[in-house]
Amino acid sequence: MTKEYSITLLPGDGIGPEILSVTVEALKLIASQFNLKFNFQEALIGGSAIDTTGLPLPEETLTICKQSDAVLLAAIGGYKWDNLPRHQRPETGLLGIREGLELFANLRPATIFPQLIDASSLKREVIEGVDLMVVRELTGGIYFGKPKGIFETETGEKRGVNTMAYTTSEIDRIAKVAFETAQKRGGKLCSVDKANVLDVSQLWRDRVISMSEKYPDIELSHLYVDNAAMQLVRSPKQFDTIVTGNLFGDILSDIAAMLTGSIGMLPSASLGDGKPGLFEPVHGSAPDIAGQDKANPLAQILSGAMMLRYGLNEPDAASKLENAVFKVLDQGYRTGDIMSAGMTLVGCKAMGEALLTVISE
Ligand code: NAD
Repeated sequence: MTKEYSITLLPGDGIGPEILSVTVEALKLIASQFNLKFNFQEALIGGSAIDTTGLPLPEETLTICKQSDAVLLAAIGGYKWDNLPRHQRPETGLLGIREGLELFANLRPATIFPQLIDASSLKREVIEGVDLMVVRELTGGIYFGKPKGIFETETGEKRGVNTMAYTTSEIDRIAKVAFETAQKRGGKLCSVDKANVLDVSQLWRDRVISMSEKYPDIELSHLYVDNAAMQLVRSPKQFDTIVTGNLFGDILSDIAAMLTGSIGMLPSASLGDGKPGLFEPVHGSAPDIAGQDKANPLAQILSGAMMLRYGLNEPDAASKLENAVFKVLDQGYRTGDIMSAGMTLVGCKAMGEALLTVISE
C-alpha cells in the first residue's frame, strides 16, 4: 500500500528556491521507488513573504505547516530586508515558525564525507570516519530562564542576569528524543553537562540516568562540557549521539559542524512532540550567489534525508538519498564551494541531475 505524506515546502529567499527544487525532484524519484507519495504544498516565509504580505511569517503559512507531516525549509534573508525593523525581518519568521511548531529539539549531524576530508581544518587521521549527531535542547535553559535582564544594584552598579533553569519535563522530553535518535544511529549516547558546578546540570544528569532505564539497548555516558569540547576536536570518532542543553549545544554543535569544514554540506532537523518537524540546511540564503546556479544543493538534500529518517520514519528511503549524495561525490561532481583540483565543477541543477541519475540506477 502506498503511504502518503503531506509536506510543506518553504523555499524562502536567495538560493532557497534553487536548492529546494532540486531536492523536490530527488524526493519524488525516491518516493516512486519506496511506494511513498508526497503531497507537496508551498508556502511563503522570510523576505519573499514580506514582499507579498508584509509579514515574515504569514498566519496562513503557520497553519499549513501545522497541518502537514513535515516541513522542508530552504533559507531566508537577504540584503534587501536587512534594514527593516526587527519584527519585520526575515529572521523573525524563522524564530516564529520554530516557536509556532514548538520545536524543542535540534539535531545537527557532523558526518565526514571521505571525498571532502581535505576541507576540514583537522588532520585526516583525526576526522576520518567521524559520524556524530548533536541533539540540542532549543527552547529552554539560559536563553529563556527568568529572571533575565540588566538591573541596578543597591550601590548603583549595573548587574546583568540570566538564569539557567530546566524542569524535569523539559529534560525528559529532550532525553527521550536523544535516546530514540541514538537507537536510529550507533546506539551510544553521551550526555553533556556541568554537573560538577551547576545544580541545573545535576538535575539534568539525574533525569537522563533515570530515563536510561527505559533504553537498555543504549550505552549511556556523561561528560562535563569543557571536556566534551576538548574531546570533540581531539578524538571526535568516540562520539555517536550527544545530548545537551541550549547553551552548551549552541557551542558544541558549531564545533562539531566545523569538523566537516564545508557549510554547503550540513543539514539539520528540529523536532517537537508529535508535531511536524522542520528540516533545513544549516547555511543561510547565500545572496552573493543567488540566481546564478552556483549553490550547493547537498545540505538541502541531506535535510530531506533527515526528514525521511527522523520526521517520517522512512529509514530505507533516507539511506538511499544519503548514499546517492555519497556516490555523486565519489563520481567527482563538485559545486564551487567544495571544488578541488581534478574534480568536475557543476552548478546546482547539474548536481541535481547527477543525483537523479544515481538514484535511478
Ligand atoms: P550564508 O550561509 O548565507 O553564506 C555564507 C557563505 O557561504 C557565502 O559566501 C555563501 O555564498 C556560502 N554558502 C552558503 N550556503 C551555500 C551553498 N549551499 N552553496 C554554496 N555556497 C554557500 O550566511 P550569511 O552570508 O551570513 O547570511 C546571508 C543571509 O542568510 C542573511 O540574510 C542571514 O540572515 C541569512 N541566514 C539565514 C539562515 C537560515 O535561513 N536558517 C541561516 C543563516 C543566515
